[in-house]
Amino acid sequence: MTDLLTLDRVSFSYTGGTKQSPGHVLDGLSLSIRQGEFVSIIGPSGSGKSTLFRLITGLEKQTSGRILFHGEEIEQRLGQAGYMPQQDLLLPWRTVRENAILPLQLQGMKKEKACEEVGGLLKEFGLSGYEDRYPHNLSGGMRQRVSFLRAVLSGKDLLVLDEPFSALDAITKLSMQEWLLDQWSKWNKTILFITHDVEEALFLADRIFVFSTMPVSQLTEIKVPLPRPRDFRDLAHTDIQGLKTKLISELRKMVFHS
Ligand code: ADP
Repeated sequence: MTDLLTLDRVSFSYTGGTKQSPGHVLDGLSLSIRQGEFVSIIGPSGSGKSTLFRLITGLEKQTSGRILFHGEEIEQRLGQAGYMPQQDLLLPWRTVRENAILPLQLQGMKKEKACEEVGGLLKEFGLSGYEDRYPHNLSGGMRQRVSFLRAVLSGKDLLVLDEPFSALDAITKLSMQEWLLDQWSKWNKTILFITHDVEEALFLADRIFVFSTMPVSQLTEIKVPLPRPRDFRDLAHTDIQGLKTKLISELRKMVFHS
């Protein structure tokens, strides 16, 4: 099977860097993501994680190297991946239903047809009874479910999620992680998930890529030895506790040596 996403010796620098932050973020980075995988990306703040997402989603263009979807280099990458940001970006003047149908309307579907299409999905996403509410009347977890529904409705195989649960309280976050895994298994999507939470990365991912100090030329890869379906109690396994300790010490070393 071809990989869904491949980075082939990708380098990237922001123009106008300073002496303290020279702007050279990636230096010949290669990686590949298989169809249907769940990959977490973890690293200290300012190590280049969001920049990698901006390159994949086409918001930035690499200085050199190639970014391939299904083995093909696509000139116009904008819109190739569904995106779920940290802040949900729901439109405050649109109801839950109207926010959910946005990607379908952008694809040219008429409003009535789009509402019909999302009816069942809103129920599936636990939003039944909230369809006519506005975002400010929803809990943080609900807003993120609408946001994820929008990413799913983008119709893209690859979903990139940038710290989507970081603003949620611990218990809501855990329920959302379980919910996300459940949805991921239903939709057959490939997920790239940025987090700075080591337990979250271990609980969700098949593989974890660890960012190091910039410029990044290689990511440390960790395979998570947990079967699926997963349950939060799996985090208590000795192997996982060992990995957690190892990851935290690596990240601490990077933060204190940078
Ligand atoms: P992370 O997501 O890991 O916190 P980023 O990808 O946001 O890291 O940032 C990586 C580096 O690039 C940082 O040094 C940051 O200051 C720099 N950077 C980010 N965005 C810009 C920009 N638009 N212009 C110049 N430098 C930037």
